[in-house]
Amino acid sequence: MEPLTAVVLSHRIVVSGKTYHYMYRILLAIGLLVVLYFLIRRAVKKIKERSEPERLSPGKNHMVQDPVCLVFVPRGTAITEEIGGQTYYFCSRSCAHKFQEKLAG
Ligand SMILES: [Zn+2]
Repeated sequence: MEPLTAVVLSHRIVVSGKTYHYMYRILLAIGLLVVLYFLIRRAVKKIKERSEPERLSPGKNHMVQDPVCLVFVPRGTAITEEIGGQTYYFCSRSCAHKFQEKLAG
């Protein structure tokens, strides 16, 4: 805020009387806007930082695809089968069975 104070002080010397009060009010408004701008920028940065980890590590609502019927299901409600060291997600038990039958036969 130091440059702004300097501007206010320089106007105090040059401008006098009513004009000075008018200028002071404008500068005060600009100062408030600058403060508001920094506060908003800081708030936005905080929100971005908070949402970052969630985006990096998908939770239970992350959508996974059933390889049999190609339907997308939330990971939290999907049927999980580990076949040959790889994890597969299915919409239902019948899809998981079909997939295992396909691999076996
Ligand atoms: Zn399915």
